[in-house]
Amino acid sequence: MRYIETTSGQWEVVIGLEVHAQIISKSKLFSNASTRFGVNPNENVTFLDAALPGTLPAINSFCIDQAIKTGLGLNGTVNLISYFDRKNYFYADLPHGYQITQFYHPLISGGYIETETEDGVKRININHIHIEQDAGKSIHDQSPAKSFIDLNRAGVALIEIVTEPDMRSAEDAANFLRALRSILRYLRTCDGNMDEGSMRADVNVSVHRPETEYGTRAEVKNINSIRFIVAAINFEVNRQVELLESGRKVIQETRLFDSATGKTKSMRYKEDAHDYRYFQEPDLPPLILDPVRIEALRETIPELPSEKTRRLQRDYGLPRDDAVLIACEEEVADFFEKALASVEFNKALAKILSNWITVELFALLNKYSKTIAVSRISPKDMGELVSLIKTDVISGKIAKDVLALMWTEQKSPSAIVKEMGWTQITSVETIRNSLKEVLEDHADKVTEYKSGKEKLFGFFIGQAMKKTMGKANPQVLNDVLRELLSE
Ligand code: ADP
Ligand code: MG
Repeated sequence: MRYIETTSGQWEVVIGLEVHAQIISKSKLFSNASTRFGVNPNENVTFLDAALPGTLPAINSFCIDQAIKTGLGLNGTVNLISYFDRKNYFYADLPHGYQITQFYHPLISGGYIETETEDGVKRININHIHIEQDAGKSIHDQSPAKSFIDLNRAGVALIEIVTEPDMRSAEDAANFLRALRSILRYLRTCDGNMDEGSMRADVNVSVHRPETEYGTRAEVKNINSIRFIVAAINFEVNRQVELLESGRKVIQETRLFDSATGKTKSMRYKEDAHDYRYFQEPDLPPLILDPVRIEALRETIPELPSEKTRRLQRDYGLPRDDAVLIACEEEVADFFEKALASVEFNKALAKILSNWITVELFALLNKYSKTIAVSRISPKDMGELVSLIKTDVISGKIAKDVLALMWTEQKSPSAIVKEMGWTQITSVETIRNSLKEVLEDHADKVTEYKSGKEKLFGFFIGQAMKKTMGKANPQVLNDVLRELLSE
């Protein structure tokens, strides 16, 4: 779906994102206040964060390291000299009256992310990445006549990742954000937790006729879930196409997304740089980096998701879609590789394991609201379970019950299978005998089957499974039933 078709012809959608990601760091960018989430309002506030006179910022070098790592992980160029700038504006949750950011000379230039799409890998280019501080939070809904200010977030380190206008659909934008989130989590530079506001995006959207220049864009501010970002883009595209088709114009403005209605509404005309009176921050020196520091940080970058995806395909013969799912979270990939290391390797087994992790184990983790890092099932036990399936000791159906017990009882799958007497029946003789009993008990249905009611096949299978308490090997059961019914 490259273009949008309407009765008047084709439209192309153009999207660029500005993603704000909170840097993982114990203290803020320019003060030693804690960044802990979920504490009382205004607990994490120093004199500097409250803008008391006479206080001065001091650069937290760990935050800079984190930003450099992010830049390297996103294939950008780290600039050996960058500067901080003041962006001046008035708002109650900004006690200084300005935000310290990097406007003219950012820390990182360029970069890109490879995203997974239906048509394969698509590269989205990054224009630049800069460091800035977050503002506080205004709380308007606690009391009818009062607003409150919480400065816990004021001064927390953010990186802003500004993409080129390279996305062509809401799906592209969602793919980009998922890939970005995954990389940031691998790098441990941002937890990617959109619910807690650690990652949020401004979405720039425009539409144009494919043969003409890009259209005028609207910017939808500060959306904190991928689902809402997709909804906002789709709403904007429809709104802009309707405007243009009725002969009106899109104006460049900042809009807000209302998650209750799924609509965007105008907030203000697009501000320009001069509205903010940007100038170089006088209280901070230029940020000058030693190349040795950058190379040392480069050494700490782990294998990232797209590289890992390719290795999982190459080393274990996983299909691409499976490899993408397993590589999305580092902990999942580690679990997968540990489980495989504990059994005798075989390509088919790797594929079954990947299915059992991404479907059945994920369902259990979801049910108990746990992450894989604290799973009650060990990689080794998961490997053993999959081996039992692969060698036909148990059927896939029984394996689901075994897995559930592995979680609650915390025993190995073989111990559970032994205790419960769940070993699969593969003996053709035993299965034939059970089937014969079923067919004798339902002689009428056998007649119906033979006169053409073929869907009774499943009924016989069901009855035989019941008789064997779910332990019959499905393949043998099918084969023998077919043989008996054709007699
Ligand atoms: P500004 O500094 O005014 O916000 P930028 O040129 O830096 O403008 O662009 C900001 C964001 O808008 C970037 O993510 C960029 O990719 C995106 N963008 C630029 N032009 C368009 C366009 N025509 N349609 C959609 N997005 C655009
Ligand atoms: Mg902008």
